[in-house]
Amino acid sequence: MKRVPVKRILDVLEQTYPDAKCALRHRNPFELLIATMLSAQCTDERVNMVTGPLFDAFPAPEDFARLAPEELEPYIQSCGLFKTKARNIVAACRRLVEEHGGEVPADREALEALPGVGRKTANVVLSNAFGVPAIAVDTHVFRVANRIGLAEAKTPEETERQLMERIPKNKWSSAHHWLIHHGRQICSARSPGCDRCSVAPYCRFAKETGKVGQPAASRRASGRKGAEQAERGGVPVSPAGGGAAPTGGKAG
Ligand code: SF4
Repeated sequence: MKRVPVKRILDVLEQTYPDAKCALRHRNPFELLIATMLSAQCTDERVNMVTGPLFDAFPAPEDFARLAPEELEPYIQSCGLFKTKARNIVAACRRLVEEHGGEVPADREALEALPGVGRKTANVVLSNAFGVPAIAVDTHVFRVANRIGLAEAKTPEETERQLMERIPKNKWSSAHHWLIHHGRQICSARSPGCDRCSVAPYCRFAKETGKVGQPAASRRASGRKGAEQAERGGVPVSPAGGGAAPTGGKAG
């Protein structure tokens, strides 16, 4: 299959979302770790509502480590999957205290060894808290990258590998944010806005489905306007927008 113009697509996304960044509010790596763990199957807005009072009550890993999971549950109940999340967060904080001196390790292997922390969460923490180049493939990144043609993959892992091959390393973290923003604002799971999409001239999905875009200036305006709208979380959906994708949740 013919390759899409990766550099051009990245340039357009960068122009469309010049201020794209992690939407999960955090003041340090620990807060980002907990916020990312809470964000599975939950919107960033909801997580941000929860983490304010949560970190006021429990500012450090030691505070969480002392809790029974049941004591944490009332604070995070509105995030969904709260029993599992409470159990994992308490266990992860105990591990941070016992094995890492209460610090979040800037190391993939150590991060992924924490209870409830997978590759996607580790990538979010590494890239946003420690400046380590990484591409966290959440439901938006999976869908948008495969629709555009930046990847042709069936799994998040394969999508991540292909994106890392095709995107320059110094753009990995930014590209992650651009794709998330594009998925939230324009290229939604069930109704992609191809007629107002800045990437449409280069997008494989648009070409295959005969969708056409507007003039560049109009598309850029649409993208920026969309970027100002409240961000929404999404359910896992395949690149074509129909069934479930092999990835869940999302990452900031
Ligand atoms: S043209 Fe359509 S499918 Fe392609 S990125 Fe834009 S909104 Fe998504």
